[in-house]
Amino acid sequence: MSIRIGIGYDSHRLVRGRRLVIGGVEIPHDMGLLGHSDGDVLVHAIVDSLIGALGAGDIGRHFPDTEPRWKDASSLEMLRHTLEAVGAEGYRVAWVDSTVITDRPRLSPFIPEMVRAIGGAGIGEGLLNIKAKTNEGMGLVGRGEGIVAMAVSLLEK
Ligand code: MG
Repeated sequence: MSIRIGIGYDSHRLVRGRRLVIGGVEIPHDMGLLGHSDGDVLVHAIVDSLIGALGAGDIGRHFPDTEPRWKDASSLEMLRHTLEAVGAEGYRVAWVDSTVITDRPRLSPFIPEMVRAIGGAGIGEGLLNIKAKTNEGMGLVGRGEGIVAMAVSLLEK
């Protein structure tokens, strides 16, 4: 058996006039994440961790923000593409753990829906954990400037 592990990190700026999409779920809030795609910081961190586990560079290489195809696209579509690449290399996802860090809005009520949305893109519900944390008022997250996410993926074949 071959196993691979990958780490993913992402951050996006919070701005007015954008939808807030995290984990494939639209969350009611007065601000949203700025990005070429929908700015889904959690899905980007998961995608980056999968690309890392494949040893295939990073998310920017595979989904450049100059690519019209990904303009305002659902990041779940990027995840589907990445999972195809995982399968093409003969791997399957054994486990993904992830953390989203934001003081506002409160995300924990949306976690089950996020798990379902990401499951619909191909990571089985029993294979994904999502945690929501605050930063206790400190730093860029505490000031409400942006939202941060981290993920670790384990692949096996
Ligand atoms: Mg991103």
